[in-house]
Amino acid sequence: MKLNELKKEVLKAAKDSYKLGLVAGTSGNVSIYDKNNEVMIITPSSIPYDTMTIEDLVVLKLDGTILDGYNKPSSEWKMHAKIFKDRKDIKCVLHTHSPYATGFAVCQETIPVILIEMVPFIGGDVPVAKFGMPGSESIGTEALKVLKDRKACLLSNHGTLAIGETVDKAFTSSIYLEDAAKIYHIAKNAGNVKVLSDKEINMMKNS
Ligand code: 13P
Ligand code: ZN
Repeated sequence: MKLNELKKEVLKAAKDSYKLGLVAGTSGNVSIYDKNNEVMIITPSSIPYDTMTIEDLVVLKLDGTILDGYNKPSSEWKMHAKIFKDRKDIKCVLHTHSPYATGFAVCQETIPVILIEMVPFIGGDVPVAKFGMPGSESIGTEALKVLKDRKACLLSNHGTLAIGETVDKAFTSSIYLEDAAKIYHIAKNAGNVKVLSDKEINMMKNS
């Protein structure tokens, strides 16, 4: 796929995240890794989503060398680069501050498997990555530890991270993460939450 097509995908995911309330203000960021050219396309730092254009995106190498773009890349580019360096199967990294999921990130509380969609779209429960300083590679390092067999996780006292072999997959995982967090929150307030058993989860994984 051409660089311009990839840029369009990044922009769409960024704007859709904003429209759906997964991010507020200029929080969150999205990136795609272009394996052929060994470059990452990422949203710019602190630019409002509604006025963001393709020209605002930044193209850089995984070592941070900027190849194209007049804006500063997302302040979390090191987290994105760390994930692309370690996970050759991943094409898209999507970081949000979606409110219900981030509530559990603040509590550093795993979201158990309470809904069937969590199995295909997240890979199981939603784990919590240890706190990493904003802008540091260590956020990525900590996330990778819990993302071994998961498509999304919580970032302690910060937000969420979803990864995917396509932009659509990362986006869908992020949506289901927020949905699960919202429903878990409602269920916790409604009564005694019953989580799906390992047997039920494995049956779904193998069906
Ligand atoms: P950027 O605007 O620099 O991408 O920062 C947003 C964010 O979510 C920081 O964690
Ligand atoms: Zn953030």
